[in-house]
Amino acid sequence: MRILKFGGSSVGNAERINNVIGILQKYYISKKIKFSVVFSAFQGVTDKLIEIGKLAFKRNLQYSLELNSLIEHHFKIASQLNNKEKISPLTKKLNKLFGELKEVVNGVYLVKELTPRTLDYIVSFGEKLSCTIIGETMLNRGIDCEILFADKLIKTDNNFGSARVDFRVTNKKIINYFNKHRKLQVITGFISSTSKNEITTLGRGGSDYTASIFGAALNAELIEIWTDVDGILTADPRKVKDAFSLESVTYEEAMELSHFGAKVIYPPTMLPALQKKIKIVIKNTFNPDFPGTYILEKEKSSKFTVKGISSIDDIALVQVQGGGMIGVSGIAARLFGALARYNINIILISQASSEHSICLAVLPKHAEEAKKIIEEEFRLEILDGKIGKVEIEKNLSIIAVVGENMRNTPGIAGKVFGALGKNKINIIAIAQGSSELNISLVINKNNLTDALNVLHKELLKR
Ligand code: ADP
Ligand code: ASP
Ligand code: MG
Repeated sequence: MRILKFGGSSVGNAERINNVIGILQKYYISKKIKFSVVFSAFQGVTDKLIEIGKLAFKRNLQYSLELNSLIEHHFKIASQLNNKEKISPLTKKLNKLFGELKEVVNGVYLVKELTPRTLDYIVSFGEKLSCTIIGETMLNRGIDCEILFADKLIKTDNNFGSARVDFRVTNKKIINYFNKHRKLQVITGFISSTSKNEITTLGRGGSDYTASIFGAALNAELIEIWTDVDGILTADPRKVKDAFSLESVTYEEAMELSHFGAKVIYPPTMLPALQKKIKIVIKNTFNPDFPGTYILEKEKSSKFTVKGISSIDDIALVQVQGGGMIGVSGIAARLFGALARYNINIILISQASSEHSICLAVLPKHAEEAKKIIEEEFRLEILDGKIGKVEIEKNLSIIAVVGENMRNTPGIAGKVFGALGKNKINIIAIAQGSSELNISLVINKNNLTDALNVLHKELLKR
């Protein structure tokens, strides 16, 4: 059994969907491999649904125009993919889904309330619509399949927008379902539900995770993530034109690269696969014969010490400093504990060995709140002058240089600093995880493209 997943970029329009169905038809006709397939919403649709929800909340009537154009967009793709005589069951299903969507969005407009719960329900239509259209089209073309709305099977907590999966319940449900349903399943990515059956979502980019959740539950032999590039590249091809595709990376490397901004795969995707040691391959829908990149436990041999360079383009640093922090145990624990209580995600931590200052990188939208929380937590120390002002610096980026073999290779850090120094790029903070898998640097945002290209040239010679 294999689980395949096609992202929004692979299903952007009718022509692309035709191409995807062509790939699936080959698998289906060969009958060699049993598989099911996960789809994201059509490209841009999740963003559009969020926009529509927000417009309705602000009582801006533009919401209704945007909603109508979204409906038209889906009907147009449906009719481009299917003959007139065969489209009626699909039209009926789409009308039902759009009826439900209109009802909730009009409700938001009327009551002027948009909770994270309602927003998850609204965005869930993106995947329900794409799977309905593609699944019905596959049926019309002779592929015997069933459409599966995965919120039925993936159970989560009620952390709307980025829910955590209850694997014990979910795995059981998936196994039971697949025991009863033997046909190829066309599965919605991204969506899940609470124990009270309220729709939740798995975080932006979460369809990759859906594929891995199903793959692990069903002990798949392989999880195939189909996207719009030739696999995992050594850097984001939009920023580094010399970036090239890697034959393979380890789960840890993939996790580290994606955690630090490589959008090609959603970081949590690696976990269920790693636990069952199921390989993941990233393939290009527009270049299907290219082998792509394998994500696996261990590589036989790798030409490269550094595997990739990724970046988070916009972050803020929160700096706490003061003589009162030196040698006092528990300061860091209190700092992180306080931020965790308010759900503020810390992307990077850097502490000078003098212990005089601690730097935290957070998303800019969290910076002011983080400052307030820290000032509250250390109110007494600040009053006593043991800790100084909490400062925020914005317009920064993080670059992460990633590779498991860096651990056994001295001199990489030297190369990184040397190359940036030669090009007069100032490093504001540095962090290296104890696994030595990753060196992360904070730099000014306006140096980002230069820094990425300079480092790529220095560290990734083919
Ligand atoms: P999908 O719609 O298939 O989920 P995404 O847009 O989420 O696709 O992810 C694919 C994109 O990730 C690529 O088009 C590429 O621009 C970007 N990307 C960023 N870093 C990398 C990298 N290191 N390797 C490959 N792609 C990357
Ligand atoms: N449609 C969702 C998003 O845009 C999930 C995904 O594409 O993976 O975030
Ligand atoms: Mg994606």
